[in-house]
Amino acid sequence: MASQSEHKATVIDGKLIAQTIRSEIAEEVRQLSEKYGKVPGLAVVIVGNRKDSQSYVGMKRKACAEVGIQSFDMDLPEQISEAELVSKVHELNANPDVHVFEQSIVILAGILVQLPLPKHINEEKVLSEISLAKDVDGFHPLNIGKLAMKDREPLFQPCTPKGCLELLHRSGVSIKGKRAVVVGRSNIVGLPVSLLLLKADATVTVVHSRSNDQESIIREADIIIAAAGQPMMIKGSWIKPGAAVIDVGTNAVDDPSRKTGYRLVGDVDFNEACKIAGCITPVPGGVGPMTVAMLLKNTLEGAKRVIVQ
Ligand code: NDP
Repeated sequence: MASQSEHKATVIDGKLIAQTIRSEIAEEVRQLSEKYGKVPGLAVVIVGNRKDSQSYVGMKRKACAEVGIQSFDMDLPEQISEAELVSKVHELNANPDVHVFEQSIVILAGILVQLPLPKHINEEKVLSEISLAKDVDGFHPLNIGKLAMKDREPLFQPCTPKGCLELLHRSGVSIKGKRAVVVGRSNIVGLPVSLLLLKADATVTVVHSRSNDQESIIREADIIIAAAGQPMMIKGSWIKPGAAVIDVGTNAVDDPSRKTGYRLVGDVDFNEACKIAGCITPVPGGVGPMTVAMLLKNTLEGAKRVIVQ
């Protein structure tokens, strides 16, 4: 048996897995176009000029183009009122899917409103106005509600949490009956990922900023999903030998040796964890690429519900 110092966890290559998924999606989109003369479309709504939002949206648009999904941009001014934004969302909800692209009809299958929205706009209100059938981000309260209920299925699952489970599946990690600990309880990552794990029959514990004995709870986990946004908070000694570790955390820390002056690290101390975990995702290159791949997958699934009846 390998001693602890020799042990090296399998590094889960999220970039490669996401690329495989994108190729699968591209092939399905090609088949839909060939068989039905229809392709999926995604409306991307961005309000204001936040640089980070512009760059995320740019990545999403590029990813759509690569797999043959048609993205439509709706760039709105920072000062737009909540009522005007809601009415734009309603327009997209009602969109009758008649855009013709090359030889195919584009089915507007998804609406993505890039967050955060400017402070004067109530995000919850805007997100809850998106048609359930086009809620590809999976943030509509009814979709989340169904995720939380037994024997109910949401139309869409939120992208980052869905990406975490896909990484586990594609890495051969079984979930049923396992002890899973999720660190973080946010609406976009921690909470929905804990619900997905529960649906997949794990025994789930959620640790948050007010939890006592975090270390000993985490040490019981066969599966750790770290989504606290705390750089390298989870040490190697907190990890059960052989555990699967999915690190969602994406934290910029100062690094004068880099041109940019910073580098990205996860919520897990990667080097320490590698000596004890069974498998682990790196940051960057783990969960990040999966989030966009799951957005494409959700858009494809939404379109298939309309096209293949
Ligand atoms: P939030 O800040 O919304 O939530 C953080 C959660 O972690 C909260 O529930 C908070 O608890 C909990 N938490 C904070 N500090 C601690 C601590 N010391 N111990 C235990 N729990 C703690 O963040 P998000 O959920 O939006 O994101 C989490 C991380 O994931 C961030 O690093 C973010 O950048 C990254 N992320 C990555 C994505 C990707 O695609 N790779 C996508 C989305 C996020 P409490 O509720 O008590 O405040």
